[in-house]
Amino acid sequence: MNSPTDAITPIVAPELEAAGPAARRLTVAVKVGGVTVGGGAPVVVQSMTNTDTADAAGTALQIAALARAGSEMVRITVDRDESAAAVPEIKERLLKMGLDTPIVGDFHYNGHLLLTKYPDCAAALDKYRINPGNVGFGEKRDRHFATIVEQAILHGKPVRIGANWGSLDGDLLTALMDENARLPRPADARAVTREALVRSALLSAALAEEIGLPKEKIILSAKVSAVQDLITVYAELARRADYALHLGLTEAGMGSKGIVASSIAMGVLLQQGIGDTIRVSLTPEPGGDRTREVTVAQEMLQTMGLRTFVPLVAACPGCGRTTSTTFQELAFEVQDFIRTSMPEWKKHYPGVETLNVAVMGCIVNGPGESKHADIGISLPGTGEFPTAPVYLDGKKAMTLRGPTLREDFKKIVEDYVQRRFGVGRPASGVDAAE
Ligand code: SF4
Repeated sequence: MNSPTDAITPIVAPELEAAGPAARRLTVAVKVGGVTVGGGAPVVVQSMTNTDTADAAGTALQIAALARAGSEMVRITVDRDESAAAVPEIKERLLKMGLDTPIVGDFHYNGHLLLTKYPDCAAALDKYRINPGNVGFGEKRDRHFATIVEQAILHGKPVRIGANWGSLDGDLLTALMDENARLPRPADARAVTREALVRSALLSAALAEEIGLPKEKIILSAKVSAVQDLITVYAELARRADYALHLGLTEAGMGSKGIVASSIAMGVLLQQGIGDTIRVSLTPEPGGDRTREVTVAQEMLQTMGLRTFVPLVAACPGCGRTTSTTFQELAFEVQDFIRTSMPEWKKHYPGVETLNVAVMGCIVNGPGESKHADIGISLPGTGEFPTAPVYLDGKKAMTLRGPTLREDFKKIVEDYVQRRFGVGRPASGVDAAE
């Protein structure tokens, strides 16, 4: 063991570095509209609407909200004639709003009928998602599946073959269970179900290729709702094939449970370089904001160092030294201010998404943490002198105090962004209290 007086050994984190783009599992790239999934492209964030697709105006508005929040493709349900008929109008409305976000049609049971009956819908969608477990039953299953794949070939669209634990191909599962029962040492039923899920996705992909859909048009997913199952199933899919993979924990749940379960399951896989596009399936509260799942997906990728979307605010948790709520309020206000400013900032300040801001509650860790950020503020804790030193690029630049402190700090952030990321834009100056 090294003694504390030994020469310093820099600690590198090979696992973390290995999760960078260079170590990503190489998959076949698939173009979905103007977005590339797989083939070493950055991990794509996607989401899904919960509007009635037949309501073209409402659905277009929700897609626009998701896209503006950062969703790089959006899936919609196409479940009946009225929904299929509305798809071209949805696409048109989005284009009028200046949004060319790819739209994915989610088909179950009747996809073969809808895609054939509504060619404009088939043409307007950028990708079709089908579940091999519910395209049909018995001998109809292969026929329906073939029809959907033929429509994809006809319209030049990619397909996500999305197997799902909750709607696994019953015939395949039964056959594997029977086979397993004949073994001298049968595996447990859960292990057989995992195998059935992996096989369902891979056999369907092989069938799609046989029909004529090239590998460059196929994305696979095999979603389950339990974290350990998801990790095992995707690791196996990645081992057996090089199709682009869509990651997602299905029925992740509500609130913090959904976020924690999704983050752990997908985090482990992403760390191993597995996953080309992700969706975080959160159950929103009634009337809640659907864009939350996009924010969570972005934060997952950003905190892992895989992508950068929006400046992040580091804030301490607060403790007995922060008896006022000033610092929590400021941390939320600043994060909010940054998120709402980002659409404009992105246009004018290239690289602004890499900005780091720290909002700290007291003198214990405040100055130190603030110095590590691009911009940091250390608010006064209980009993401390009521001033807040501000650090820019690691150096104390000014001290704020008084009732205008929050607005002053946001102004400092804005000026810093202009000065550091603006092209030829002079900073407007900060009215520092010092
Ligand atoms: S920085 Fe200060 S207020 Fe924040 S958690 Fe640490 S000791 Fe508590």
